[in-house]
Order: sequence, then C-alpha cells, then structure tokens
Amino acid sequence: LHLVPDDFTPPPALQHQGIPLTAHHELGVPTVHRTVVDFANFDHGATSPALRTVEQTVAAVQRVSGSVHRGAGHTSRQTTQWFEAARKEVGAFVGAREDDYVVFTRNTTDALRLLANALPRRTQVFTWDSAHHAAQFAWAGRSIHRLPIPASTQDALDLLTQALESSTAESKLVVITGACNVTGEVWPVAELASIATEFGARTVLDAAQLAPHHPVDIDELGVDYVALSGHKTYAPYGAGALVGRGDWLDEANPYLPAGGATRAVGTRAVEWNVGPARHEGGTPNAVGAIALASACSTLRKHHDAIAAHEAVLHERLRSGLAAIPGVRLVSVLGPERPNVGVVTFTVDGFDCSLVSQVLSDEHGIAVRDGKFCAHRLCDQVVGGCAVRASIGLATQPHHVERLIDAVRRLVEQGP
Ligand code: PLP
Repeated sequence: LHLVPDDFTPPPALQHQGIPLTAHHELGVPTVHRTVVDFANFDHGATSPALRTVEQTVAAVQRVSGSVHRGAGHTSRQTTQWFEAARKEVGAFVGAREDDYVVFTRNTTDALRLLANALPRRTQVFTWDSAHHAAQFAWAGRSIHRLPIPASTQDALDLLTQALESSTAESKLVVITGACNVTGEVWPVAELASIATEFGARTVLDAAQLAPHHPVDIDELGVDYVALSGHKTYAPYGAGALVGRGDWLDEANPYLPAGGATRAVGTRAVEWNVGPARHEGGTPNAVGAIALASACSTLRKHHDAIAAHEAVLHERLRSGLAAIPGVRLVSVLGPERPNVGVVTFTVDGFDCSLVSQVLSDEHGIAVRDGKFCAHRLCDQVVGGCAVRASIGLATQPHHVERLIDAVRRLVEQGP
C-alpha cells in the first residue's frame, strides 16, 4: 500500500540507539503537551497516537473522497482500489490464510460481536473471566461457558482442557486473549489453540493488545479468527477488523443488512452477497480502513525493533517500580510471561485515581486507573482498582525514569 512515501524518520533519541521508530513528537499528541511539558504517554493500552504515515494517509484519502464500490468515476475507483488493497494488507499483517476473509469493523468489540452473530446455532462459547469485557460479553444470547481466572499458564491450559472434555456441544468457540489488557501478559495462544483444535473447537484471538506490539500469525498460532482495533494500533478510531474463516460468515445473516451487503433484491426475495461485503452493509469507513492498513504496513516493517525497544523499557519500568516500598505489581499468569509493555500496580495507602491524577497534573505523565474493563480480574486479583502504565512508540527511556521517580516521590511524601 503506497499511498504516501514512507518517510518514517526516527527522532534523534531513538536513532541514537539504532531503533528506527517514531516518538511522541513525531506523532499526533496534543500541542499543549508538546510545548508545555515533555508529555510522557503511558496509556497506549487504551488508545495509541496515530503514526505520521497514518495522518498522511487520512489526508490523502479524504482529499480523494470517493465512494467505495459505488461508482464508475475516478474518485470512486481510486478509493475502492485503496480499500481492497487495505484488506490485503490487514490480512497480511495477521498472516491470514489465502481463503480467510478480512471484514472491516469499527473495533475489536464490533469484530467479536460480528463473529457472535455468525456462530452456528447451538455453538458454545468458552471465555475466561479474566478477559476484557468485550471478549466476555460479545456472546450475549449464546451459550457461554465461563472459565475461572487461571493462577498460572499451566492452569489456563488445564482449565480449558477440562471444560472442553466435559462439553457435549456440537459446535464450540474458544475466545483467547492475545495479551491481557490489565497485566500486559502474553497468553499461551498457540498452546490453547492446539487444545481447542484437539476437541474440535474453533478459536478467536482477541489481538487488541497483542497486535500493536508483536507479530500475529494466524497460521502459526493455529487460530481461526483474529480481531483487532485500529485505535490501539497507531491508526484512527472507528476502524478495526475481523480476519478468519469464511464459511460461518457466508452462512450467517448479514451483520448490517443494507446496501453493499445485497447482491440482488427481487419483489419477494433478497439475495445477500458472500464474502466480506455480506457483513459490511452501508458505506464503509474507507478512511479508517485504509489508514489502518498503512499503520499495519509500517508496524510490519518494524515489529522486531518495536518489540526489542519496548522490552528494554518494560524491564526497567517493572524493576524500577517493584523496588519502591509499598508498590505492588499486578500479575495473573506470572511475571515470567512475555509482556507487551504494561506494568499495572497499586501503591499502599494511596487511592489509584489520586496516583494517576498526581502523575498527570504534577508530572505530565499519562497512565490509566480503574478496573480497565476487566472487573472480575481486578476484583479477584487486585481487590479493586489499580494504575496501569502501558508502553508504546510514544514512550522514551527518560519517560520511564520520570515515572519511576514520580512514584517514588509520591510514596516518600506519604498519603
Ligand atoms: N480486548 C482487549 C484485550 C482490549 O484491551 C480492548 C480494549 O481495551 C478490547 C478488547 C476492546 O477494544 P475496542 O474498545 O477497541 O473495541
């Protein structure tokens, strides 16, 4: 996808370390933060700033502003071509198999709900109580088997095996978290998918947190579907995708029964399209889809460097915070798990919202506090709210030092 030249210029700080990444001043952070304070963004887990190439792609697509699949004119043809190229790029980003569908959605929540709509009747859905609410509740109206929060990686594998062994459902779907949105821990996706396959279950990978940080390969992981969000992947809001097997999707009722999803409408019968178009009724978010593809293209080129960069920052942040008395780090599967760059913690004697407010107002550091759309996990593992610092392309080494220092000073001052 060559909409704009790939002028992905590394800023001096990162160039120095030989990491060809962009940094927050290369990204679309608010001017007030850029000029007033060296804004330290530790909230990538919620939404990531758009890449410069993404901003340029958005501008280029808007400049053309043609209708996708609905016109013979130049603007329509150009936008349609970009849109379909974007489908291929997003598929390639997650290692889609040749016959997999890439359906554009609004976000991960929408992608999972689209899949829920396409499940064969009497499908039983297996989902962990530790999952993001989107992955727990997209299946409303279906038979849901809730798996308890595992105490370790092995426990997660055992819990799934036991649940599938005792299930008599004709059709089964296992919802696998790629990386936990509370802890950043990467789940044993391939191992879980292999167990699911053994019991004839299909799998969907919630890659909302994983895809921005690590390569995702459907085939290598052995999963059937992948869902992801553009706004967490340095792309615009309102653009996401469901990638995976086409058979259930072709047999299901259209997710948005409307123009674009229809093939022929007679006086009595309606014939619906097959393929991704069946579920993309209405004029699609072409700018979002094409810009998502441009982010995927850039991330694909730099994935290894991103992972290496973030691993260093994560280890420093983790050990720096852990060394402060009264700071407790949150873990579910265990601190030895690979991590997408998240450190979630509580500070003895401090309300979490106060910690995040002080970090923001006094130090220009953005974190998130609360229960992170994973209330069951937070209530059970943390006993309430926590503070989450999530690393990404806008985080630099000196930001990590600033965050550690700010928390240390807070603790020294006392509640
Ligand atoms: N799954 C995980 C693991 C998430 O972290 C999130 C968002 O935080 C979602 C799903 C839902 O993503 P979205 O709000 O983009 O639909």
